[in-house]
Amino acid sequence: MNLVLLGPPGAGKGTFAGMIKESFGLVHISTGDILREAMKSGSDLGRRVKTYVESGGLVPDELVIKIMEERLGQKDVTACGYLLDGFPRTTAQAESLDRILARMRQPIDLVVYMEAGLPVIVQRLTGRRLCRACNAIYHTENMPPKKEGLCDRCGGELYQRADDNEGTITNRMKVYKESTQPIVEYYLNQNKLHTFNAEKKTAELLNELSDILNESKTSDQNQVTRRG
Ligand code: ADP
Ligand code: ZN
Repeated sequence: MNLVLLGPPGAGKGTFAGMIKESFGLVHISTGDILREAMKSGSDLGRRVKTYVESGGLVPDELVIKIMEERLGQKDVTACGYLLDGFPRTTAQAESLDRILARMRQPIDLVVYMEAGLPVIVQRLTGRRLCRACNAIYHTENMPPKKEGLCDRCGGELYQRADDNEGTITNRMKVYKESTQPIVEYYLNQNKLHTFNAEKKTAELLNELSDILNESKTSDQNQVTRRG
């Protein structure tokens, strides 16, 4: 199964992705995580993307597409199915992705579009904390770790992303509206989009997603039976 997560920053894509990955065994590919890892390691790529990421702007399409093409080409993706989180973010990225996936014969089954209002987004982003070691996501109020400042899973140190402050959030929302929102239409036209109310609890969203995936599996089977 192949899924794409779409939605504004702070809708909870990363948190939902973690649960989906555990339930369905998909390969979770987060461009944000890849870029932050590169910045942490001080690699050439990391140096090239730093100013874009820290200001809340978009890393140039060419660069992100190249990173994704490489990552999607790895064996685990075809073996287990993928869950894309944070990519595509522009129409050009969505078009390139379709070309890459067509070559791989791994089309997208469903685009999970997570919608949330601005107050919820700001609350989620300003309270968000990440584990330095394993990238697990926490929230100071909604999802606090058992021990303050430490990851429940691996004991790693929690930190706040440099771009999770009100000033940068405003810019990220502007970028989202201008560059990413048009992709909603793109996938609507492909009949792949399903809209989720991301203000609901993640467990509820997971149930909803499971139902949709089961339904589509049943209708595929019915078609096979009818054809056969
Ligand atoms: P969020 O969804 O919380 O905004 P991400 O972790 O997905 O954050 O992304 C963080 C930053 O990384 C973005 O603000 C942007 O600078 C960069 N980035 C991530 N994915 C892409 C992409 N597909 N294209 C361009 N830039 C990206
Ligand atoms: Zn951790």
